[in-house]
Parts: sequence; structure tokens; C-alpha cells
Amino acid sequence: MTRPALRHISLKMSVFTGLLYFAVASLALLTSRFEGGLAFIWGANALLMAEMMTARMRAWPRLILSCMIASTIATALFGIGAMAAVPMAILNVGEALVVAYICRRLGVGRQIAASMRELCIFIFALAGVANVLAGIGAGLVVSTLLGGDFPHIWLQWYSGHVLGGLICTPLLLILLQGEVSRWARQARPIERLEAFGLLSAFALCAWWIFYRVDYPMLFASLLPLVLIAFRTGYAGSAAAIVILALIGGTATMTGHGPLRLVAASIPERIQFFQFYLALSFLLSVPVAAELNSRRRLIRMLRDSEARYRAFAEHSGDGVVNLSIDGIIQYVSPSAVDQIGIDADRLLGQPAVDLIDPEYRPFAIVTHRRALAHPGEAHAVEFRPNRPDNDFDWYEMLVRAVLDEQGRAIGVISTVRDISRHKARQRALHQAAAQDALTGADSRRALQEKLDDQIARVAAGGQACLLLIDIDHFKSVNDRHGHAAGDRVLVGFVERLRQALRGTGSVGRLGGEEFAVLLPDVDLERAERICEHLRTRVGVRPFPLGNGEDIAITFSAGLVELDGSASAATLMEAADKALYAAKGSGRNCLRFAA
Ligand code: GH3
Ligand code: MG
Ligand code: MG
Repeated sequence: MTRPALRHISLKMSVFTGLLYFAVASLALLTSRFEGGLAFIWGANALLMAEMMTARMRAWPRLILSCMIASTIATALFGIGAMAAVPMAILNVGEALVVAYICRRLGVGRQIAASMRELCIFIFALAGVANVLAGIGAGLVVSTLLGGDFPHIWLQWYSGHVLGGLICTPLLLILLQGEVSRWARQARPIERLEAFGLLSAFALCAWWIFYRVDYPMLFASLLPLVLIAFRTGYAGSAAAIVILALIGGTATMTGHGPLRLVAASIPERIQFFQFYLALSFLLSVPVAAELNSRRRLIRMLRDSEARYRAFAEHSGDGVVNLSIDGIIQYVSPSAVDQIGIDADRLLGQPAVDLIDPEYRPFAIVTHRRALAHPGEAHAVEFRPNRPDNDFDWYEMLVRAVLDEQGRAIGVISTVRDISRHKARQRALHQAAAQDALTGADSRRALQEKLDDQIARVAAGGQACLLLIDIDHFKSVNDRHGHAAGDRVLVGFVERLRQALRGTGSVGRLGGEEFAVLLPDVDLERAERICEHLRTRVGVRPFPLGNGEDIAITFSAGLVELDGSASAATLMEAADKALYAAKGSGRNCLRFAA
């Protein structure tokens, strides 16, 4: 919510505030002082508090000074006299300063009406701190200079100032920040008419209570007050309290109204009336303030709901809301399309049923993790529980939904079809794992398989590695061309594979150099397999694709895996053996040392 900016207060405006303070203070002193005591309602300080709360702190000294002068003159002329004028002025501005400072420090100074919390802080500052202290000061000053009962003076100050501040400050704040004109601009004609009608009816009701009936009907104002709080909000409530204070205050001071039935002096009746007014205020204005903040919350909620709905219903991703137990509570149209089941049949079902059993544990863990770590999005990839389609893949991003206390009450997931991404990934992986020319395992795939076998042998298995290099292959290229050489390489791998019949896998290390990995095979059997390969390669020449063919041989180096030697060490040993085979005239097998 945006806060209104702090106002700039010029020197002229400060002087004007001082003059207004003087007028309000003088009026209160002239009309509501009884038996030489303090004024029964002191609204002048509310003016200073409201100005300070809405102004920058820089302007505070000049506001304080002008109101202090105003207070001094008003007290000297119409109040308890020149002797007490300066100390009373200090207490007056001191009260306003304490309230404005506390509210500013707690960040709620400018919008008492915004919520219950802000109103409570203002009431605490006014009634719990500032006037308890200022009342003590006033009691000391007045009882010392003019004589009188300290507790009585304290109570007079406290009730007059708290009441004046409570009723007038919020109202002035509303006026100073242009809330009334904003309300008048924004309210529909029917709302304006309703507010006017309700306040007029309330004025009539107050007049009836204080001037017409002979029974003590003070409580009759409570129901319309609450109604006004509900229907017109904070500004209407504050206006109603002012109406009640004006009508009821005038009646009580002039000896009319239900309080004339109380056998007490007029000042005592006025004190009682102040209580009544304060209770009316506390009954209606906080309700209006709370409603205000709820209305704002509902507006924010509606905005966010509209944004969420627009996203959920128009996004290509599916949106699924789940309860804490993983039961489907909402599915967006796009999610329904992706899942291929009607929304009616999905709602209320466990979401996990839609996932391939193999991937369910991952999805469940992700769901739990999202609930345990709200505020973070958790991703999981899974296949749907649809046996007819092997290639569907989904990615789900899960995030917890929190209640107002910040506890997780479910999750919201966005589901995206990543089948194409997965297919591309698979193709890339396959391409990386295969030699493009011969279809043999790539060097990387061979490396991975060799690492696996090393681990298996370390755990008690057996395996051998055979390194093969075609003899005098360069001359094949030289005599028949590179393309013919390629055909020979393809045919060579094919022939190795046929001869192996699944007992091992062929990988191309580069050029015309290959590796054959033989799992579950000891050295003796590996030798037999190698001899078998040599026989199979030599049994028939290889076609070159141009009608001719060529006979080739290969040399080989053999090493047995021992579970401890690394892949690099094994390769090096086999390579040395191969080199030895080449050195021994080629077309033969040698063992690693
Ligand atoms: P030896 O191994 O018996 O010592 O003799 P060699 O002629 O086979 O010698 P070497 O292994 O060093 O030569 C490899 C030759 O293989 C060099 C190059 O012309 C050829 N070659 C390497 N890669 C390819 C390929 O992908 N296609 C074709 N056609 N020839 C290749
Ligand atoms: Mg060679
Ligand atoms: Mg070579």
C-alpha cells in the first residue's frame, strides 16, 4: 500500500496552524471550563499532533513554537491565568510531541485509520504515555500555583486531552491528507447518498436521545454507530463521533439530555459524558479501522487471484493445486489437456496415481520437501502413468501455498511437457556414445563401460580388455582411397560383432584402432576369443564397394582387469602389448606384462 508523502510545511502555514490552535484553544476555554478548572475537551492539541504526524520532522520546531505561543496567550487570556500559561503551554506541546514521535518511530504516524494496529499504537501513545505524564505535570503546576486537588486535576487533564486527541486527531488526519475529497471523488453517488443519509439519521437519533426522550437512552446511539462503521468506514465513524460530541456535549453543558437525571454537578456530568463518548469512539472507530484493513486485504487478494487465474488459465504450462496429502484440488485447462482426463474425474484424486510407479518416490519426496521449505520452488521430472506412451516426460515445479500464519496448507505445481527436450537429450547422448562411422561405442562410452567393469572386478568379477589395430591400413587408403578404407572399417566392426555374439562390446578408439571389452571372461578364454576373431576376420576378404575386395589382418594386445588398475593404466598396458605384437611381425596377439 502506498503511503501519502510527508507534507512540506512553510513558515506561513506554521503561523496559520498557531492561529488556528489559538482559536480552538480559546473556544474550548471559553465554553468548557467550569468552576475555574481545565477545559473539559481539548481539541487544540489534536491539530498540532495531526500537523506533526503528516509533516516532515524538519518542520516540527516551527509548528511547536507557534502552537506554544498560541497556547500561552490563550491560557493567559481565557484559562487559568498568566502564571501557569508557559508551563501549561510546555505540557501541551510536550504531549503532542510525544505522541507524534512514538507514532513516527513505529511507522504508523500518518494513517491511524489504516488498521487496528496503527490505531492501537496511536491510542497507546496518547492515552498510555503522553497524557499520563502531561497530566502529572498539569496536576503539579495547577495544584502548586492555584491550589486544588492533584488527582482531580490529573483526571480533568487526562480525560479532556485523551478525548480531544482521540476524536479530533484521526479526523484531522483524514482531512489533512485529502482522504475526504478522495472518498468523495471515488465514491459512487449511491454511496455518497448512503453516507449522507446515515449521518443525518444519526444526528436525528442523537437529538432524540439528548433532547426528546425522558428516559436515559444513551445506549440507543450504539447500534447506528456500528452500522455507520460497517457501511461508511472510518471517515463516517469519525464524523458520527463528532456529531455525537457536538449534540450531546451542548445538551449536557446546557443541562439537557439523559445526564440531567444524574444527581451531580454539571462538570461531573460532563466528565461522565466524556466517558460515554470515549466508549462510543472505541466501539465504532476501531471496527471501522479493522474493516478498512480487511477491505484492503480483500482488494489485494482479488488482484492477486485475478493475476493467478490469468496465468493459470492462459499459460501453456499446466497448473495443479494439491492439498498437503497430495489430493488434487485444482487443475488448469492446460493441465487437463496434458493429462487427458476430465477435470471432474481428477479433482479429489491422489495426484501420485497419475505418475509412473517408478517415479512416484521422487515426486513424493519433492512434495514433502516443498512443504518443509516453503518459499522455494522444487523441481522433479517424471513419466506419466500411461503405458501406451513410452516417450512422455514431464517436469514439475512445486511450491508450497501458505496460510496467513505462514504454515503450508498445500502446494501449487506447474507441469510442463518436456518429452521433446528429453528426446533431444536422448539423441545427443546416443550420438555421444556411438562412433558415427562404424556404430561402435565411442571412446567416452567405452571409457564408462571400462570403469563399470573395473568396479565389478573389484567386487569379485572377471573381465579382459583387448586392444586391436589393423595392420598396414594406411596402404588400403593409399591404394583404394579413403572411402574404400571407410567401408573396410564398417565391415570390420560388423564382423567383430558377429564373431563376438554378445560376449563383448566393440569400441573405436580412433583411426583403425579398436578396443574389445570382454566381461566375465578370464585371460585364457579371452585369448581363445581373440583367436576366434582373427580367424573370422581372415576367413573372407572385405568388399571395397567398387567390386574389389581386400584381405586384412590385425594385431592385438590383451590385458586382464584386476580391479585395482585404473582405466588409463589398463589401456597403457594393452597398448604396450599391441606394440609388441606389431613388433613381432603383426597379425598376432600379445599379453600385457
Ligand atoms: P600398422 O598399424 O600396421 O603399423 O600400419 P598402419 O598403416 O595401419 O599404420 P597406422 O596405424 O599408423 O596408420 C593408420 C592409418 O589409418 C592412417 C590413416 O590413413 C588411416 N585412417 C585413420 N582413420 C581413418 C578413417 O576414419 N578412415 C579411413 N579410411 N582411414 C583412416
Ligand atoms: Mg594400423
Ligand atoms: Mg593405428
